[in-house]
Amino acid sequence: MDAFVITVGDELLLGQVLDTNSRFIAGRLTGAGMEVVETRSIPDRAGSIESALDDALPRAGVVIVTGGLGPTRDDMTRRALAGYFHSRLVEDASALAWVEEVLGQRGAEMNERNREQALVPEGCRVLRNRLGTAPGMWFERDGKVVVALPGVPFEMECLMDREVLPALRAWSPGVMLDYRVVKVYGVAESALASRLDDFEDCLPVTMSLAYLPSPGLVRLRLTARGEGVGLLDGWLERLTGALSGAWFTVGEDSGMALELGALLSRAGESLSVAESCTGGGLAREITLAPGASAYFKGGVVAYSDEVKATLLGVPREVIARDGAVSEAVVAGMAEGVRRLLGTTYAAATSGIAGPGGGSPGKPVGTVWIAVTGPRGTVAREFHFPFTRERNAARAAMKALEMLIVAAREVTG
Ligand code: ATP
Ligand code: MG
Repeated sequence: MDAFVITVGDELLLGQVLDTNSRFIAGRLTGAGMEVVETRSIPDRAGSIESALDDALPRAGVVIVTGGLGPTRDDMTRRALAGYFHSRLVEDASALAWVEEVLGQRGAEMNERNREQALVPEGCRVLRNRLGTAPGMWFERDGKVVVALPGVPFEMECLMDREVLPALRAWSPGVMLDYRVVKVYGVAESALASRLDDFEDCLPVTMSLAYLPSPGLVRLRLTARGEGVGLLDGWLERLTGALSGAWFTVGEDSGMALELGALLSRAGESLSVAESCTGGGLAREITLAPGASAYFKGGVVAYSDEVKATLLGVPREVIARDGAVSEAVVAGMAEGVRRLLGTTYAAATSGIAGPGGGSPGKPVGTVWIAVTGPRGTVAREFHFPFTRERNAARAAMKALEMLIVAAREVTG
């Protein structure tokens, strides 16, 4: 089933408000197996609403409109919809009761403007808005559905989840689209694409592969349409097969920190970090995984040589001899924090994130990372070619990768 999303509001076109409603609705509809063919933002004008519906209805079975349902004059959607469907506005008893209930919760009195919120185009089905006074509206015409929702994001989101999606599932014939996400780490998009050339050549027409890059990670979305839906998991297996040897995790909510957490929790082991160039970014990645308190003890942001020496016990002579960005110092940092916090494993980072601070021997982007554990200490040197922020993000990812390698070696 194809869907079209229309967001109404002058504020969206003036650049005052970012259209987050489209993103939310498109995500929910896609998750429910529908294909969103277009999202469009239009001004608060009856003519714009009508022409958007004229464009949308031939192309989609479901049209979702948000915004402009409020009690003020600038909110045009209700009247425009009544005009479009040749119906008049009538007071709906249940809508009026819901408005009274919401006002009661707020301790507010009903006034004329609020009462108008219960005026809806005759023949539409009213959808209960538990968080505001503007009800949602569901229209069915010629085998198609048009839904109007308030613009306020949290009201719209509650209506989508509690009213619209259940009604759409009951109304529409089966799932037409489904997808899986694989996250691949530390491989450039173009290198990944050449590696997956053969896989993509073999993909049936009902299946497509999309690349969504972000720093240090490319999300692959394998989408199946129509008859392909039943074949999706088989093709996911072929995709992960084609990725063997690379770092990847399966699922939108998956990630390297979660993977590491699972290994450590299973083995009852613990972790600490000492960070220089990542400035806490590694600890942040680790603690984004729910349940991290079971294995993550804490860390030290050892940014100055002073802290590296006094708190972590890295010998001052070593810092003076090799410099802070060096194998010996980063290994000393990892071993120091492991001792200090008494953990099974520890990781440390020290690097030149940029833009300044480079030298011929140690250019910007040079990062040393060490991991220490029951089997000893491993330190590796990296050269990242990015901006300060991305170099630090990549370093945190690499540290996670090295920790996973170390934890796997021991626990298997
Ligand atoms: P209500 O009667 O509850 O105010 P409404 O349908 O009249 O609902 P609008 O007046 O259009 O809603 O919008 C209310 C607020 O919601 C706007 O000020 C804006 O900040 C936010 N909003 C509207 N549309 C969007 C959108 N597409 N994305 C994000 N925020 C939006
Ligand atoms: Mg508005």
